[in-house]
Amino acid sequence: MNPLASQAAALAGQITAWRRDFHQHPEVGFQEVRTASVIAAELRALGLEVRTGVGQTGVVGLLEGATEGPTVLIRCDMDALSILEENNVPYASTVPGCMHACGHDGHMAIGLGVATLLAAHQGRMRGRVKFVFQPAEEPMGGAQAMIEDGALDAPSPDVALGLHLWNGLPIGRVAVTTGPVMAGAETFAIQIDGHGGHAGLPHETRDPVVAAAHVVAALQSAVSRNLDPLEAAVLSVTGLQTGTAANAVPMSARLSGTIRTFTPPTRALLLDRLETIATGVAGALGCAARVEVAQEARPVVNDPAVAARVRQVAADLWGETALAEGYRTTAAEDMAYFLERVPGCYVLLGAANAERGLDFPHHHPRFDFDETALIHGAALLACAAATYLLPQEGA
Ligand SMILES: [Zn+2]
Ligand SMILES: [Zn+2]
Repeated sequence: MNPLASQAAALAGQITAWRRDFHQHPEVGFQEVRTASVIAAELRALGLEVRTGVGQTGVVGLLEGATEGPTVLIRCDMDALSILEENNVPYASTVPGCMHACGHDGHMAIGLGVATLLAAHQGRMRGRVKFVFQPAEEPMGGAQAMIEDGALDAPSPDVALGLHLWNGLPIGRVAVTTGPVMAGAETFAIQIDGHGGHAGLPHETRDPVVAAAHVVAALQSAVSRNLDPLEAAVLSVTGLQTGTAANAVPMSARLSGTIRTFTPPTRALLLDRLETIATGVAGALGCAARVEVAQEARPVVNDPAVAARVRQVAADLWGETALAEGYRTTAAEDMAYFLERVPGCYVLLGAANAERGLDFPHHHPRFDFDETALIHGAALLACAAATYLLPQEGA
């Protein structure tokens, strides 16, 4: 076994304790004050040079090696969600209405574990590790805030690594995917203006409710009829607001929804279909449609060379059968903004354990995961970083 992996296993008690402490004290995006202070104190205790307040509540820790070499960035997100926890566990959230329901508590514990593991080898390390603890992944904005605040400057990283504990995969499985692994996301709104009036005299109105219904139905054709079936994308209408009186045709209707895509051409295609269908269908029914789109996140795209290296590390740790080849998800992540600037790899690490009831989906009030995944995550990131920083056995 890779010595770092056995060292990670020996740290299980400490890593689990960190995770449970973070879990008991969740903080939402850009309010991670206690969280950041715990992380900064632990990193300083390990001898790292620490910068706080990066991108508001972010923390950057630098572990300097003994000789010159590459800079490896390891990114962990810190924020919780505005969800009331329904788990009855000793380490449940102590903050009503706030919960680590995505696993970011585990990501931070893993990050501190990796810092502990690599700090023990500082004397023979070349290069350095830059630990980036990022605020506000859930509302998005934390990654950009840290980048704007210099998280990627002096020293600028040569490679970026990170992972998400993932209940879409069982414990023991891992996805190290080349190219896009998580989708880009946009939200949209479609304002449909008609002409209201008496519901008993519909011929005197231009009905935005009927137009909205047809727009919703026609939008279902964008993915099913326009997109290459071998490509993946989502176009979901998730909201429809209109009308308050049963006997009146309202003046307008408003649709909202989300689009998820992995590549720029697919994104362009769906945005074009959204506009064309909304304006064309509403126009044909006598109404006017105006489409508003906001980009929430760009896709998370793994660098082929870095992904190949991390994949090999995972295969050496757990065997080829542990790898979920080609796995992707249409969830979004602002790790994308780091990987746009630094070649890197974002791993989805199996964390669900159905037998123990630890398989609720992310963002569910009963979300929890198999804490064995914490040790897997620390071992994987430490071993992957070590391929850049430490002399490799047999190399
Ligand atoms: Zn989440
Ligand atoms: Zn998350």
